[in-house]
Amino acid sequence: LVIEPTQKQQEWVNLTEQQLHYLRRVLRLKNGAHFIVMDGQGNVWNAILHENSAQLLDIITTSTELSIKLTLMVALPKGNGFEDIVRSCTELGVNTFIPVISERTLLNPSPQKVERWRKIAIEAAEQSEREIIPQIFEPINFPTALTKIKEIETNKYICVTRREEVNHLFIHLQKPLLNSLVVATGPEGGWTNLEVQTAIKAGFEPVSLGRRILRAVTAPVYIASLVSAVGET
Ligand code: SAM
Repeated sequence: LVIEPTQKQQEWVNLTEQQLHYLRRVLRLKNGAHFIVMDGQGNVWNAILHENSAQLLDIITTSTELSIKLTLMVALPKGNGFEDIVRSCTELGVNTFIPVISERTLLNPSPQKVERWRKIAIEAAEQSEREIIPQIFEPINFPTALTKIKEIETNKYICVTRREEVNHLFIHLQKPLLNSLVVATGPEGGWTNLEVQTAIKAGFEPVSLGRRILRAVTAPVYIASLVSAVGET
């Protein structure tokens, strides 16, 4: 269960109606049942359910987080595609999502959409017992995102299709001491040439995800799976 840090008073947590509903009706827990509480900021406890509260027992120190911080910069796919990306990639250990609006993005997300994505990230983090809840940025235009990320010292990659000469992302994941990376994926119609050139100027290296073209919703999940396999150890 994910709590707000303000809900915690020493070893006790006052549970909200919604949290009690989740524990008692969805998980069917009874008073005295053990469950896991996390504050989304890296702290995880074993806890016992009481009437309207939880008692925190010992802190759990074994980490469920990856040793590599993955930021996905995703050109928003159409429909509810980004919801699926947030759900699966949160389970796989992604640290940050930057939803971007590119030239060929067809979606114009409402503020309610962003709230929904954040709710999905919380549910997925709970489900996979993550210690942190991934951060989801407000959607921004791709050029703005590139300018913002320019100052950040990390490995940056942009996934491009049909480019024989570029290396597979997996090759770059073999770098010793790799501890963070940003990977950008395009929408259904792909990136424009200008977007790829601008990204390269901003320090992104073009990479391949293999010879098959993946759907805009599949590509981020594939990337998160690759990184999680490498960052698990
Ligand atoms: N017709 C588009 C094209 O060729 O770019 C297809 C775009 S694909 C459905 C959506 C995005 O996923 C691409 O812009 C790219 O970022 C990423 N992608 C999918 N398959 C890929 C592959 N095999 N190699 C590199 N990137 C890939």
